[in-house]
Amino acid sequence: MELIRIRGVEKQYKNGVTALCNLNLSIKKGDFVFVIGASGSGKSTLIKLLHREERPNKGQIIIGGIDVAKLKNGKVYKLRRKLGVVFQDFKLLPRLTVFENVAFALEIFGLPKDEIRDKTIKALELVGLKNKAKQFPNQLSGGEQQRVAIARAIVNGPKLLLCDEPTGNLDPDTSFGIMKVLEVINNMGTTVVMATHDKEIVDRMKKRVILLDEGKLIKDYAKGTYSNEVA
Ligand code: ADP
Repeated sequence: MELIRIRGVEKQYKNGVTALCNLNLSIKKGDFVFVIGASGSGKSTLIKLLHREERPNKGQIIIGGIDVAKLKNGKVYKLRRKLGVVFQDFKLLPRLTVFENVAFALEIFGLPKDEIRDKTIKALELVGLKNKAKQFPNQLSGGEQQRVAIARAIVNGPKLLLCDEPTGNLDPDTSFGIMKVLEVINNMGTTVVMATHDKEIVDRMKKRVILLDEGKLIKDYAKGTYSNEVA
């Protein structure tokens, strides 16, 4: 079953740069998709369009039945409930503990306290950080901070997890640990779309690979490697 449908999408920023051009893409429920390409090829823009941080100038983006391109600002929460986002720079709140950073993502839904606590602990268990719940972000390594960010992104059980260069600030071993966590989350049924430069990771994971070049989708492989696509 299709989760994401992109048809004829074009994104031009106000400065006149065309970041994406006539993009067509279909992503099935449960897929794991890498979006690769040189710096400036449009990877981040695609991720931003999917969580409606940006809107396309043209075309259609449907996610789980929601027409994202047409979604009014007041209705964006309907989309955001269905997805989680992970960034290169973690974006944790420094004055909140690990537990509070994750629980915060649920508090906006007004759930009962017990439910918030249970879900938060489960998410922290999943990323292997239950024992660090009381620490603050600056007491954790980069890899651990990214795990907290992943726990926060999935604590509500979203259908879709978007990742924009999640391993961009991490060393290779730590990055691979992050990928293992993302793979577990994917195996539990969450669709994952990850923009990355990380050649080694793409080659090791053997997932679907989409290559962008100057805003155009130029290759789409079911089980791709970075080197083959870019070469
Ligand atoms: P990537 O993630 O592959 O590096 P981006 O999606 O960030 O690519 O950028 C694609 C193109 O759009 C680049 O030419 C970039 O300079 C431009 N761009 C990205 N964000 C903006 C913005 N907010 N305003 C103007 N141009 C932008």
